[in-house]
Amino acid sequence: MTPSYCVVGGGIAGLVAAYRLRVTLGDDAHITLFDPADRLGGALRTEQLGGQPIDIGAEAFVARRPEVPTLLAELGLADRQIGTTGVRPLIYSQGRLHELPRDTLNGIPTDPSSMTGLVDDATIRRMLSEPARPLTWRPGADPAVAELVGDRFGDQVVTRSVDPLLAGVYAGSAATIGLRSAVPTLAAVLDRGARNLTEAVRAALPPATGGSVFGAIDGGYAVLLDELIRRADFHWAQVGVERLVRHGGGWQLVDDEGGDWRADGVLLAVPAPRLATIVAGVAPSAAAAARQIKVASTALVALAMPGGTPVPDRSGVLVAASERLHAKAITLSSRKWGSRGNVELVRLSFGRYGDDLAHRVGDDDLLSWAAEDLAAVFGVTDEPFDCLVHRWIDAMPQYGPGHGGLIAELRASLPPSLAVAGAYLDGIGVPACIAAATRAAASLVTPRVAR
Ligand SMILES: Cc1cc2nc3c(=O)[nH]c(=O)nc-3n(C[C@H](O)[C@H](O)[C@H](O)COP(=O)(O)OP(=O)(O)OC[C@H]3O[C@@H](n4cnc5c(N)ncnc54)[C@H](O)[C@@H]3O)c2cc1C
Repeated sequence: MTPSYCVVGGGIAGLVAAYRLRVTLGDDAHITLFDPADRLGGALRTEQLGGQPIDIGAEAFVARRPEVPTLLAELGLADRQIGTTGVRPLIYSQGRLHELPRDTLNGIPTDPSSMTGLVDDATIRRMLSEPARPLTWRPGADPAVAELVGDRFGDQVVTRSVDPLLAGVYAGSAATIGLRSAVPTLAAVLDRGARNLTEAVRAALPPATGGSVFGAIDGGYAVLLDELIRRADFHWAQVGVERLVRHGGGWQLVDDEGGDWRADGVLLAVPAPRLATIVAGVAPSAAAAARQIKVASTALVALAMPGGTPVPDRSGVLVAASERLHAKAITLSSRKWGSRGNVELVRLSFGRYGDDLAHRVGDDDLLSWAAEDLAAVFGVTDEPFDCLVHRWIDAMPQYGPGHGGLIAELRASLPPSLAVAGAYLDGIGVPACIAAATRAAASLVTPRVAR
């Protein structure tokens, strides 16, 4: 019998999983991939703006992690990997721009002097005296980042340094993201008995490599997606899967148009809230765990400004919590990755966990907010000659305290021949999604591999 597999969700996790299944199972296996979207890629989406390709979802990956470079090399695309130009981002706090402190772990400083000007003198003194204050740490603990950092270094470090970084990564806040997910190396050093936060954060800081911290793909993520789709050679069913039902030793999938499909193995690469609905009938404990994972939505405005628009030669601006700006981050894409043509590409993102801005605010208002913010931050009043607005609804899973335990529970309660992949599992970034998809695909075809 020809084996048949269904992959549900066509973001990077689903596409990598389908590709891995194809490589392992060979040409004969039937692979069907379900996704109701207008195109595949999920949160990876490359558009044309001002005559240039621009990624309007994820635009980068952490280059220190091996997953993306290895996958690009495997697909013959290694020469498409690019690094940043080396320009650094700024932080917008207290109504003005500051240098981003150097040598921080997701905004948690290793050196109090790097925070001069960003936080007040009392906060600097508090950081300097932190090693003298006894630290109580229970190995395995997972407090919210703000709880530990606020207590040891003060609230200004949280709101002006850590929050802007976590808003960029998770569209979340230090008050709701768990330390173990946001900075796992720091949690590990604390578990090993570090005497204070200063010592721990210094020990956890990775050594500088000299290379670009972030990578991107020349031509945008579409280059990677197209190659994965070509090589995975699946049938794309452009429908949503509503639920799973057991069928003999395999599965029946019911789609949202009333169709049903059969498979020997199913790999679910959908966001956590969708997973909860799909598996409710066959894996209620996994569904209950998935339901506890909260999600955030953001709206993205991308602008093409004329070349010569006077933006600073910086990669962008991270905005501190509770600033009177609309955007939570501004990326100066042409400065960050290098300009092509006589155009300045700029991205502004709006909305954080807990607000409903991405649902509520119309395109015209978002475009007006973008113009107001560019004027307030850079004094730029030039009109864009091209623009795009995109909403990423429920796209950013929130890694709350205890997330690792929740995921272990979820995976443990899945029946055999059902595997999961996606951004809510082992890390929100593209590299972690590739790793989770690889693991999930291997578990389906080699049952002894951990799901
Ligand atoms: C705006 C933004 C910027 C980001 N920036 C970066 C960055 O610079 N670097 C980085 O590393 N990461 C970044 N991320 C995170 C990263 O892009 C995502 O976490 C990752 O791409 C998610 O991949 P995924 O396959 O898990 O999920 P998704 O990309 O969300 O894909 C899930 C897919 O499932 C489909 N689906 C949903 N329900 C069903 C159903 N019932 N049946 C079938 N299909 C269904 C959806 O249509 C979607 O295509 C960013 C994310 C966003 C939103």
